[in-house]
Amino acid sequence: MQIYKVGGAVRDRLLGIPVTDIDWVVVGATTEEMLAKGFRPVGADFPVFLHPKSGEEYALARTERKSGRGYGGFTFHASPEVTLEEDLIRRDLTINAMAEDDQQNLTDPYHGQQDLKDRLLRHVSPAFAEDPLRVLRVARFAARYAGLGFTVAPQTLELMRQLADSGELQALTAERSWKEISRALMEDQPQIFIEVLRECGALKVLMPEVDALFGVPQPEAHHPEIDTGVHTLSVLQQSALHKLPLTVRWACLLHDLGKGLTPTEEWPRHIAHEHTGLKLIKAVNERFKAPKDCQELALLVGQYHTHGHRALELKPSTLLELLQSFDVYRRPQRFEEFIAACEMDARGRKGLEQRSYPQADYLRGAAAAARGVAVQPLLEQGFKGPELGEAIKRERLKAIKAYKEHA
Ligand code: ATP
Ligand code: MG
Repeated sequence: MQIYKVGGAVRDRLLGIPVTDIDWVVVGATTEEMLAKGFRPVGADFPVFLHPKSGEEYALARTERKSGRGYGGFTFHASPEVTLEEDLIRRDLTINAMAEDDQQNLTDPYHGQQDLKDRLLRHVSPAFAEDPLRVLRVARFAARYAGLGFTVAPQTLELMRQLADSGELQALTAERSWKEISRALMEDQPQIFIEVLRECGALKVLMPEVDALFGVPQPEAHHPEIDTGVHTLSVLQQSALHKLPLTVRWACLLHDLGKGLTPTEEWPRHIAHEHTGLKLIKAVNERFKAPKDCQELALLVGQYHTHGHRALELKPSTLLELLQSFDVYRRPQRFEEFIAACEMDARGRKGLEQRSYPQADYLRGAAAAARGVAVQPLLEQGFKGPELGEAIKRERLKAIKAYKEHA
């Protein structure tokens, strides 16, 4: 059997980027031979194994044929006769379809090196269109390598457009889509992911709620960029510039969905968009089965981001309600993430990227004041049950009033 490094490890070495995980392809071997060498099989569906020591993935060279819709609609053919070139041609992009032996001899039948030089993300063969997940993958790679000057080749974008139009994207499972989306959002330029999806018509299919924001105006006084889609991308970009976690990035992407529902007569104002947006945020959350913390934060940010901006003007009772809604006493980190998302929303506006956001420290101070209320003295005074709850709330309100007066 011959073993080659493939995919990202080869690509990133040639780009001079640190390689994190290595994928291997094995030519000329059978499943039985792999098992005999101590490799552990990964799933029932794929001829993929884990190395007994390194734990890295080793896949038998295989060919693929589409036999139906969706990811289940593939038949694999793995056998010792499948050649390296046959395995490489089923891969998505030319820059991902190179292999390297242990002497660093490169096998590059589809001109991946040339495309690395030309900074092009190009499909390997027309079979690209057989797996709609590749639309998301290409958009993700575009986001990752935008900083190096990579763009999607026009013919590849055309294939992505055909895939988006074909209805195949709907056949993707939530799990496969979310994996790509979440990885893409964690790239340095996640807004490029959304832009590429939009350009090929996939955003309209995957997240019509986000797509609908483009062309929707906002008041120029607060939003010099005017367009809600442009604003959303800037907010997302800010969240990456500030190295914020996935939860915050997801919330940034979805915070203004309600603006897509505003009747055009009301433009450029968006009265109560925080509330109208909630059902849309819920729908997107559920469509991709986003993790619970992402879902929760997106909904909270959607509902309360304008509270965040008006923090200094909020009445003490409203401030308290805000803190209660976040359960800031038990979930202080989530409130920090909310503050971060609000700040990104404020900065994701043309020319205002560097503005200060005094609301952040003000909200932190209010939370600290409310959390500073000690329960023990109230217990000692004999409060119990619902009365205790009321007493705690009263004390917290007092603390916030005092804070507001001195802030
Ligand atoms: P990363 O740095 O994100 O791991 P990668 O290119 O190594 O990038 P993997 O998801 O680890 O991506 O996949 C390894 C290789 O398998 C890819 O380089 C590509 O050749 C191939 N591949 C993975 N998924 C697909 C797919 N859906 N369609 C075609 N080829 C794929
Ligand atoms: Mg990889």
